[in-house]
Amino acid sequence: MAGVNIADEISALCYDHYRTKLPKQGQPDTSKEWTLMAAVIQVESTEGKTDIRKVVAMGTGTKCIGQSKLRKTGDVLQDSHAEIIAKRSFQRYLLHQLSIALSGSQDCVLVPGNDTNKWMLKPGVSFVFFISHTPCGDASIIPMLCLEDHLCPTSTAASEVMPLLCGPNPSNKRKQAACAHNSNNKKMKLDGSNQETEPEEKKESAAFIPEPIDVFRTGAKCAPGEAQDRHNPGVDYHTVGVLRVKPGRGDRTISMSCSDKMARWNVLGCQGALLMHFLQHPIYLSSVVLGKCPFSLQSMERALYSRCKNVSGLPKGFQVHTPQILQSHLQFPHGRDALRKADSARKLVPCGAAISWCAVPHQPLDVTANGYKQGTTKKAIGMPQSRSHICKVELFHAFLHLLENLSQEQIPESLRELKTYYEYKEAALSYQEAWRQLREQVFTSWIRTPRDYLNFS
Ligand SMILES: [Zn+2]
Repeated sequence: MAGVNIADEISALCYDHYRTKLPKQGQPDTSKEWTLMAAVIQVESTEGKTDIRKVVAMGTGTKCIGQSKLRKTGDVLQDSHAEIIAKRSFQRYLLHQLSIALSGSQDCVLVPGNDTNKWMLKPGVSFVFFISHTPCGDASIIPMLCLEDHLCPTSTAASEVMPLLCGPNPSNKRKQAACAHNSNNKKMKLDGSNQETEPEEKKESAAFIPEPIDVFRTGAKCAPGEAQDRHNPGVDYHTVGVLRVKPGRGDRTISMSCSDKMARWNVLGCQGALLMHFLQHPIYLSSVVLGKCPFSLQSMERALYSRCKNVSGLPKGFQVHTPQILQSHLQFPHGRDALRKADSARKLVPCGAAISWCAVPHQPLDVTANGYKQGTTKKAIGMPQSRSHICKVELFHAFLHLLENLSQEQIPESLRELKTYYEYKEAALSYQEAWRQLREQVFTSWIRTPRDYLNFS
């Protein structure tokens, strides 16, 4: 399809879905808030025909709760970053698809696999992951170069980067000076226009060679046990390629960054352990598409799969999957950069709500804040109505409900005589073996949810 930019088409499809299918309640109040958005797009390719693409899951959100707010009952959403909400919503979608398949209907994306009671994706079906911004953690550590320079691997024009560079940072002037330099040795202002350099800048940029002069930073801290950030000014601020933990407000989190979680999906699939009981192969993402934002293909590749590329001994069907990474020219209108561009004086904070949507017939939406349905009072915490459809216990119960409706012959052997969520997850042997290999070989500092938070039933 010459002349058609697939990344732009995917992002336009997602922005349209966001605008028309998600409730205003849960979206940011754009006079003061921004959010992040992620989605899963199902693609059906038939030879000789145009691909059919549809959004099957979407998530928004920017927050993650601290360790002290976790619950042993699995009824709180721990991590509400958009990517994670979208992925959990996608699992809910897949669970629904599996229930259709098990009912004998062919109107779904799963077809019988080679092994008894195992299913696989219908030939020609694949899934694309869209994110409005680079995932937090390693993928967001992006070298800042002379951004109008063609040698520059980042795809963002200097004009969009400017607001980020002009924050209250003591080294700001140095960054501007270096960034105002391009390979022709002509001075360029951040708005792209050429001009004579101020004497002070001249002095500072005299020794400059066209190499990264700084990095975009991530709020995610290196996990304990990893090489730590050096925090030196400029390019040496962060250590790259290491596991990171999401920041929390005062209360530390035990959630790994979205870059790390996505890297894990590229080995274990996005379906999770429970669904793996019914699947012949893990479900990998064919591509990852980003909205317009500061971006480096190199950082994305490093974060999402290069650091796992030597993992060996994976069980049959598992691999280090390398999705295609693409960036769109279209910016998410409710993201921080877009809103700042519209009004640079506006004070913006991340939106506290998260929206989950997926293509299921009953209650496809839920809006949460602090890990519970929006509007949940302290007293109502623990009641069924306070739970998100995609929290651990709800997804688990949806899975158990599916099992209840099956005949004994339809239930995979691996699922007999189990009780707790932990047991159901552990019994997915190939998945757990792949996870063990990944953890032992690369992600040795991964912080695992303590077992007593998984013993609910
Ligand atoms: Zn994140």
